[in-house]
Amino acid sequence: MVAQSEVAETRCPGTNIRVFAPDNASEARTCAAVLRGIEQLAPCGLAISEPVRLIHSPGPILNDPDCMGALHCDEGRIEMLHPSVLSARLRKALPLSDLDDAALVDFILLHELVHAAVTQMDTGSRVSQLEDEDIAQAISFDALPRAARDKLVSLRGFDRPVRKVELTEDFLWMDPIGFGILAWLHFSTPGNGCAFIARLMNGSSDLFDRRMFDHP
Ligand SMILES: [Zn+2]
Repeated sequence: MVAQSEVAETRCPGTNIRVFAPDNASEARTCAAVLRGIEQLAPCGLAISEPVRLIHSPGPILNDPDCMGALHCDEGRIEMLHPSVLSARLRKALPLSDLDDAALVDFILLHELVHAAVTQMDTGSRVSQLEDEDIAQAISFDALPRAARDKLVSLRGFDRPVRKVELTEDFLWMDPIGFGILAWLHFSTPGNGCAFIARLMNGSSDLFDRRMFDHP
């Protein structure tokens, strides 16, 4: 483990995101993932304009042994488990043997970048915590390679329409990966996608909006 004082800080080019990484190689890798993540936010009109610091942590995060990453919004700080710990932990939760460790780390990074963008842009506090999580899960699952995601969806037996009653806080706490898959399935339903996210962001719809589900 590297002492905090030895950790280099760098600003990812063209962004407002500073990365604290133990060496140049992981700094470059993390910045490349940040830039890819920012590109993945753009189609849904999400962007990070305020400064964010990204820190790899030995954990535990938020005193939760299961937590892999978190956005401390009051401090503009994303805390993620160190990549070596994170990929092993995530591999247990997500049966995605086709993905390499870097792809698993990027999956969590994108999730946290979405939270940062939503938090910064939701100045009117229209987006509930559950909706924030729905958006982060939908976009990060959408960025997974299609074959890996399809496998996960069918492994969990979720290749069916999503019912409104399923995207709940209880289900999120009980089964965060299951919630993520359903959030993505709902997001990928024709007519939803970024348009649904825009409606959540501007407060014209919410996760309790029957019109957004074919199966209430
Ligand atoms: Zn989240």
